[in-house]
Amino acid sequence: MAIRQFKSESKKLLDMMINSIYTHKEIYLRELISNASDAIDKLYYLSLSDENIKFDREKFYIRISLDKDARKIVITDTGIGMTKEELENNLGTIAKSGSFDFKASNEKKEDVDIIGQFGVGFYSAFMVSDKISVTTRSIDSSDAYLWESEGVDGYTITDATKDEVGTEIVLHIKEDTEEDNYSKYLEEYELKSLVKKYSDYIAFPITMEVKHDRMIDEEKKEYEEFYETETLNSMVPIWKKNKSDITDEDYNNFYMDKFSDFDNPIKVIHSSVEGMCSYKSLLFIPSHAPYDFFTQNYEKGLSLYSNGVLIMDKCPDLLPDYFAFVRGVVDSEDLSLNISREILQESNNVKLIAKNIEGKIRRELEDMLK
Ligand code: ADP
Ligand code: MG
Repeated sequence: MAIRQFKSESKKLLDMMINSIYTHKEIYLRELISNASDAIDKLYYLSLSDENIKFDREKFYIRISLDKDARKIVITDTGIGMTKEELENNLGTIAKSGSFDFKASNEKKEDVDIIGQFGVGFYSAFMVSDKISVTTRSIDSSDAYLWESEGVDGYTITDATKDEVGTEIVLHIKEDTEEDNYSKYLEEYELKSLVKKYSDYIAFPITMEVKHDRMIDEEKKEYEEFYETETLNSMVPIWKKNKSDITDEDYNNFYMDKFSDFDNPIKVIHSSVEGMCSYKSLLFIPSHAPYDFFTQNYEKGLSLYSNGVLIMDKCPDLLPDYFAFVRGVVDSEDLSLNISREILQESNNVKLIAKNIEGKIRRELEDMLK
């Protein structure tokens, strides 16, 4: 079985992850869960245009299971999966290679900055794992593949079997060191609290088999263990919650996760508007320009949802060019789910929302100026 080499930039990133002194290693879970959620979203998009794909909400979930003795965490999703080529391209190279400049990153301190600023995605799992196995089957294929890697030495891709479309990721958790306690990630309560902290709003259920005890003999005080599937996230998007139930930390965590920024925003604008077109919006003014702001790759826009379901990741029509730096989401029940790009542009509702939002941002910025 031939070992394949990572592309050179990926190799540097991996090396950084493996030897990382980054203190927020826990973000690996958020990264893997958001990939799983993206993969389910992609399948959902496909189902809109392909009658053969049924999107039955019940069947879509992200499952976490634990094997403490084997030091394993397994994250399974029922998303779109990957073909062999996609495995090779997506996990053998950094997706966002344009955002990295490794020339200046020999210093440990700068490594930490890079990890925080760009949200390093899949490879962040190497901060806590000494081996990762990914078994995946694409919606486009009846074959499944296993990608495995123990780090910088490379990875292998071999044939595998998998009954369902989707992806299963097995993390083999590192042994504890003097500086780092990795074993905590094998504790149920730790994983539960990480899901709550970073991934509560994810639109699909994140489930875990949770161990319980029940007494089977009262006199002998005998217990038996049983497992129950729990859904860990509330699935209520943060912008739909009451402001009074949201802490600054909730806003900041959501912002940093969704928009891959290490710094808190300097301003959060959360509004709920009732009227001709009702909507909720949650906007953020970043504290610094996004890393790719001055490049051609930068796309302005707000994420557009129809009642909690993503319609478009970056809808440019919602922001004028001079507010291109604003990040955020808009959710309206008055927009249809199956709306196409062209119709969106013409939509009076979208125009109305855009006009309101522009005024709102302007007023907030003027207030800040004062
Ligand atoms: P990003 O999510 O920003 O693209 P990642 O490093 O997190 O970067 O993931 C790289 C790519 O690997 C993703 O874009 C996606 O194509 C693929 N991928 C990762 N995890 C999954 C998954 N669970 N299901 C399907 N594809 C995945
Ligand atoms: Mg990702």
